[in-house]
Amino acid sequence: MRRTPQAADTGDLPLDDFQQHADTLVRWISAYLETPERYPVLPRIAPGDLGRALPSRMPDAPEPLSAIIADLDRVIMPGVTHWNHPGFLAYFANTASVPGILGELVSAALNQVGILWRTSPALAELEQTTTAWLRDAMALPGDWFGMITDTASTSTLLALAAARERDPALDIRERGMAGRPDLPRLRVYCSEQAHSSVDKAAITLGLGHANVVRIPTDDAFRMRADLLDAAIRADRAAGMRPLAVVATLGTTSSTAVDPLGDIADVCTREGMWLHVDAAYGGVLALLPERRREFTGLGRADSLVVNPHKWLFTPMDCSVLWTQHPDVLRRAFSLTPEYLRTSEQDVALTYSDYSFQLGRRFRALKLWFVLRAFGLEGLRSRIRHHCALAQRFAAWVTQASNWEVLAPVGMSVVCFRYHPTGASDEGALERVNAAILERVNASGRVFLSHTKLAGRYVLRVAVGNLRTEEAHLAEAWRLLRESAGDPD
Ligand SMILES: *Cc1c(COP(=O)(O)O)cnc(C)c1O
Repeated sequence: MRRTPQAADTGDLPLDDFQQHADTLVRWISAYLETPERYPVLPRIAPGDLGRALPSRMPDAPEPLSAIIADLDRVIMPGVTHWNHPGFLAYFANTASVPGILGELVSAALNQVGILWRTSPALAELEQTTTAWLRDAMALPGDWFGMITDTASTSTLLALAAARERDPALDIRERGMAGRPDLPRLRVYCSEQAHSSVDKAAITLGLGHANVVRIPTDDAFRMRADLLDAAIRADRAAGMRPLAVVATLGTTSSTAVDPLGDIADVCTREGMWLHVDAAYGGVLALLPERRREFTGLGRADSLVVNPHKWLFTPMDCSVLWTQHPDVLRRAFSLTPEYLRTSEQDVALTYSDYSFQLGRRFRALKLWFVLRAFGLEGLRSRIRHHCALAQRFAAWVTQASNWEVLAPVGMSVVCFRYHPTGASDEGALERVNAAILERVNASGRVFLSHTKLAGRYVLRVAVGNLRTEEAHLAEAWRLLRESAGDPD
């Protein structure tokens, strides 16, 4: 067997070195994952510190890998926020699970570039299979087409591009939107609580930020379907064109679920595209006992769920499904001569469904995760996180000077310190912001905040595999201590 040229010829490192450094790094990673608690969750670093610790120009001569690896501890780790820390309770916590890390390792080595089916049949077919596995495990309609993108922001952008493409009369792909007096204003509706990625998609697609209509929510932060209906009717009467609704299953602030069935009814009647943003909460559909909360989900035209949030897959991995792959393809398919192949009519080419040409082999890590956990393994961790959040919420509810400010339907608790008698919202905001600051400065836990109905609230988001009751108990102790309210 002929071997490939040795490293001296290629400039790459010899494989013996690879083995040695890989061993070192795998040990280093294992030690890290064993006790991420030895670091403060948030690094104690100021903007610019890390940049200043780095040389201002790249090295002229090759440096030994051992020197680079040594700098991980010296230079990089002081600037790392520890998403793997069990005290990470901010935003939506997630985990780089061991199977996910291993999948990424192999994916880097195989270096698949999924331009066409033939540039990586394994990528194309594993992506179809893993997204179908997940779809079926969530009891979604069996004919939905799935693809993997980097983020929910991209997935939602693609979905809204498809929504705009559905009516051929608009002809925006060909003619654009500028200088078109024949085009009505195209409107996209979402709730006040929807993620900013909806706004960014509208901005990027040239729909215009002013054409994102934010519908008020009820007292549980769910979109008011009656007000959606009214807004659409008013826009139609004013000569505008209602294009799509983005409903949220698991809002970013409080994990509220919009009334999907009622919204789907409106979309059906109006001939509008329904995109469901379930970036975080969608995985709850893996639990049979939770599915009736999502009635109507199967009527969506598209849906996004991020395995890189609550499915223990390392950043990045977002799944977009649609029941109209033909429309998505019409929005993006474009084959230059140099990419024509004999199998193009029978093989799946994912670049036909997106603005990106090259794509990474993200399905590999998802495959590792889905197989290594199994459906039951995933379900039990997700249930455990929901139970932990309920326990934390119960502590808050039972304490006299604290209150929970949103229903706890998933693994997030929104709450605040509210001493009896205090009613000035500005003062409550300052007190709670100061508590948050002190708690986060401890380095033991990291919480974030949001605003709900004008009130400043603290959030505890459970989503890390390593988070257990003891970590929540510590967060609760730190919170009460920081409030000067130890009982
Ligand atoms: C996190 C989140 C997003 C954005 O996710 P990215 O993958 O970072 O783009 C969108 N929508 C909701 C509801 C989210 O929670």
